[in-house]
Order: sequence, then C-alpha cells, then structure tokens
Amino acid sequence: MTEMSDLGLMYKRRQGKVLRRVGGAAEGMLVTHLPDVRYLCGFMGSNGTLVLFRSRALLFTDGRYTAQAETEAVGTRVVTASKPAVVEACEWIEAAGIMCCGFDGTRTTVSELGKMQAALSKKLGARARSGMFVDVGAAVARLREIKDAGEVEVLRRAARVGCELFEHMLGFIEAGMTEMAVAGELEYRARLAGAESMSFETIVASGDRSAMPHGRATDRKIQRRGFLTMDFGVVIDGYASDMTRTVHMGGAPRSKGKGVPGQREVYDSVLEAQEAAISAVLPGVTAGEVDEAARSVLRRDGLDGYFTHSTGHGVGLEIHEGPRLAAKQTQKLEAGMVITIEPGVYLPGEFGVRIEDMVLVTATGAEILTPSTKAWIEL
Ligand code: ZN
Ligand code: ZN
Repeated sequence: MTEMSDLGLMYKRRQGKVLRRVGGAAEGMLVTHLPDVRYLCGFMGSNGTLVLFRSRALLFTDGRYTAQAETEAVGTRVVTASKPAVVEACEWIEAAGIMCCGFDGTRTTVSELGKMQAALSKKLGARARSGMFVDVGAAVARLREIKDAGEVEVLRRAARVGCELFEHMLGFIEAGMTEMAVAGELEYRARLAGAESMSFETIVASGDRSAMPHGRATDRKIQRRGFLTMDFGVVIDGYASDMTRTVHMGGAPRSKGKGVPGQREVYDSVLEAQEAAISAVLPGVTAGEVDEAARSVLRRDGLDGYFTHSTGHGVGLEIHEGPRLAAKQTQKLEAGMVITIEPGVYLPGEFGVRIEDMVLVTATGAEILTPSTKAWIEL
C-alpha cells in the first residue's frame, strides 16, 4: 500500500466528487480540458487526458511529460502514450470493460468526439461504440466554481499582488508615456512579485480608447487629460487574479460632445453600480440579481445603454469560468465562489470607465479580495 499525501487525498476527494456527479449517467469520466485535468490530479503539462473510473485515476500523456507528470500528478497512475493521449485513454477504457464513459460536451469538439469513437475497436459493435461516450456536461467546471480553503488562499495572494502592482503604477504613470510602456512596467513588476504569467493580455486604454472595453495597450502616448483604464491580473500557483481601475489624467473632467454626460458623473455612477452589485452578493441570490443591482443604478442615470457587457464572472484556474453574472442568469451564488464585479460605461469616441474587484462569496455576503482604492484618482 502506498502512503498518500495530503495533496493526493485532496485530488482523490475531487475525483470522487466528479464520479458522484456523473454517477447516474456514466460509469466514469474522460477529462481532456487541461485546467480540469490540473484541478483533478495536479498535472500542469500541455498534453494530458485523465480517465476517472471507480477509484482509479489514470493520466495519459506523452514522453515529453513523463517525468513532470510523475512528480505533479499525485495519487494518479501516469501512462506514457505512444499514440495521441486521448486515443490511448479510449483504448484503455474499452479494455477496462467500461460500457458508458462521460465526457464534457462543452469542451469536446465534434472532431475530438469522432477520434474518441474511432479509437474503439470494431469488436465492440456499432451500437456499443456509439453508446460508449455520454455528454455529462461541464461536470468538473461546476465543481471548480466552489473554491476550497487552499484555493481561496492562493486567489487571495494573487489578488493582493494585483493591488500592490496598482499602487506601484500610481507612482509610475506620467503623461507622455505610451500605453505599452505602462503595460511593460506592470508586467515586469508582476514577474518580480512572483507572477508565473499575466492572467490575460494587459489592458491599458487611455483617452478616447478607454471607450473600448478591451483596449489592449498600444504605442499611443498617454495625454494629460481624460481617463486611463487598466485591467490586468497575475497568475500565482496556477490561479488568476483580475482587477480594473480607471484613473483620470487631469484636465477638465467634462466632455465636449453635446449631450455627453460628464466624466466625473459617469465615474461616480459606475462606482455606485459596482458597489451596489457587491452589496447584492449573498449565497442564494441569483447571478442575474447581482447583475441587475449594477444595471439598475446605471439605468437610473440613463447610462445602462452604454453598459455593453455582463457584470462579472468566476475566476480561478481560468480567468473566465463559472458562474457568469449576466442579465437574467438564474444560477444561485454559493459560499466559496470567487467572482468579479465589473460594470463599465463606454461612450464611443469619448471615454469609458470600468471598475472591477474580485470578491469571495461568504456565508454573510462578499469579501473584497482586491481592496485597492476606488476613489476618484487624478494623476
Ligand atoms: Zn478584468
Ligand atoms: Zn474580469
């Protein structure tokens, strides 16, 4: 008998939860989405297929990853495949006598499913072959929505690094710098602070470019007027952080265009919307109700037509995961979820404002993981 570490026990627990979740529909599960594989066994390589069946877990990978998999995949048997990992995994499933294996239809392409079915031998017969793989939906992703204490701790650290970077940037940014230079400094500092990578391509959008919700940093020089929006995150121990702050570069915070709301008014409205949504966070409240809490403030101020995206998303091993906080979403929030709250208002050709925090859903409400100031800042 091999002794199992705490880590091994944690993965076994997660694997058991997946099997219980798919239990009614399938005997086991084939997991190919890499963040799911990492969540269930610790393997971080770029080629891995995990098979969960009864109390067994097998990780199929290729020769480049054998050594890495042996170290990372705790409590899981590693198989070095000479064929594509998913093909060998399917052959193993057949050989093990499994008749019905679950897969995540939200992550498996039609062509991948074809490969899985083609890996089964003709001996099985057409009927058994076509019945082998059953779509059990995003079983692992749903599990991943609720973070355990260890995951919350890592997310807390990643969020804290984000806040420290923002503080640093406040002392660094000056008019005349390019957006790219700002992003470069932020990303360099992130690496020094221990980030494995950025969570996504850093957004630095100045002046009228702040009206683009996803304005990547360009060689545009930052002017001494208007808004500067920074949306960024770091990856620490595999977990992503995500935050947005919008600061003002000076000059009259009024807009020139006729009928365009003032910059200060828009900022205050977005901030109020953001805080209203955070106040609405509570286990049992639907994602749609949190979205509506933000949207209704902007509606009151005649700005809801300029809020063109959803209010937030779950964050963890992936930068965008469940739950989705959008209009009419009926999914209920649960304690242990880590989500973003990020309303924004974008006036095309003029300016935009977005404010985003990461929050942990607790038994009594929300704990903000990114407590950097949201007060109006003029650099
Ligand atoms: Zn963001
Ligand atoms: Zn976000």
